[in-house]
Amino acid sequence: QACRPLIARDGLSAVLIEPAVKFLAERGHTVQLGHELRSFVSTDGKVTALNFGGEDVIQFGAGDVVVMAVPPRAASSLLPGLKTPTEFRAIVNAHFRFEPPPGSAPILGVIGGVVEWLFAFPNRLSVTISNGDRLVDMPREELAQA
Ligand SMILES: Cc1cc2nc3c(=O)[nH]c(=O)nc-3n(C[C@H](O)[C@H](O)[C@H](O)COP(=O)(O)OP(=O)(O)OC[C@H]3O[C@@H](n4cnc5c(N)ncnc54)[C@H](O)[C@@H]3O)c2cc1C
Repeated sequence: QACRPLIARDGLSAVLIEPAVKFLAERGHTVQLGHELRSFVSTDGKVTALNFGGEDVIQFGAGDVVVMAVPPRAASSLLPGLKTPTEFRAIVNAHFRFEPPPGSAPILGVIGGVVEWLFAFPNRLSVTISNGDRLVDMPREELAQA
């Protein structure tokens, strides 16, 4: 009961991204993709504008706040001095075009194997291996066979 894995059956877009974009659109907001923040403009230690390069600057109004949710390297370049992780581990995912046997569990944890998690989807078996640095540089065919 303490561990109830949830599976995004139709992918993460359907359960996370699309509802979030819809939620924002319904409130009159837009999502701009491919719009890279270059720097924060700040005065007295407070962000006053977002600089997207050149003339592309968004000035803050009173009460505006900024939520920064970028990966560590981008975070530390946007906010020099911010402490961020400096070590990273690979995750290996493989997707096999294969019809899972009838009655396959949607998610299966494997102990003592190369694979850690096995996911059964229509026409597809997917595997996930965390901390996969030892595998990530293997030739793809060899890795798939393993
Ligand atoms: C192969 C793989 C499989 C995974 N599988 C699962 C899973 O099955 N279940 C699960 O729960 N998690 C999974 N994860 C982990 C999950 O994807 C992450 O934990 C999650 O995406 C982190 O979300 P985030 O919003 O913090 O960061 P991200 O999703 O990394 O989003 C950060 C965003 O910031 C943007 N960005 C960076 N710099 C700038 C900039 N200067 N200006 C504007 N935008 C910028 C990037 O383009 C990116 O869109 C997986 C991860 C990987 C890599």
